[in-house]
Amino acid sequence: MNIFRSDLNAGFKNKLFETEIEHVNDRNIVLENNTLVCELTSCKTKNGFRITGHLINNAVNNCDRCLCSYIVKDKLKVHFNVYNNPSSVDNRKDDILYWPSKKDSIDISDYLIEILLVEVPFKKLCSTDCKGICIKCGSNRNDGSCLCEKNK
Ligand SMILES: [Zn+2]
Ligand SMILES: [Zn+2]
Repeated sequence: MNIFRSDLNAGFKNKLFETEIEHVNDRNIVLENNTLVCELTSCKTKNGFRITGHLINNAVNNCDRCLCSYIVKDKLKVHFNVYNNPSSVDNRKDDILYWPSKKDSIDISDYLIEILLVEVPFKKLCSTDCKGICIKCGSNRNDGSCLCEKNK
């Protein structure tokens, strides 16, 4: 996912960015349609640009109980600064990406994937009341009671 210098110079507001990511599987995360989606707003700052907005959490998880895949699809806040000069020091807690002035675009895919990786839950559940799979017949108990229960 590239942001172009010309776009940053012009400034953008709630701009939708979508990029197909091919190598995301190396990183142990699967995205819906292999696509990274975010909506960003930029503004100029003293040292470069500040980018805010949100990233769609479209990571595909497999439920630990019923093994179904599910997508949370909530919005994750993103805010970072883009600096041309790595020597500019800033004490704010925001993340900073450096951007050599000879490059006309900056690739933020890796940065966004890191944010998604942090969100991957330790315990994955499609819903808090997931009933899991039947230990006898292996059917998904969220889809209705299996015959084992009826025969009890
Ligand atoms: Zn489940
Ligand atoms: Zn069963």
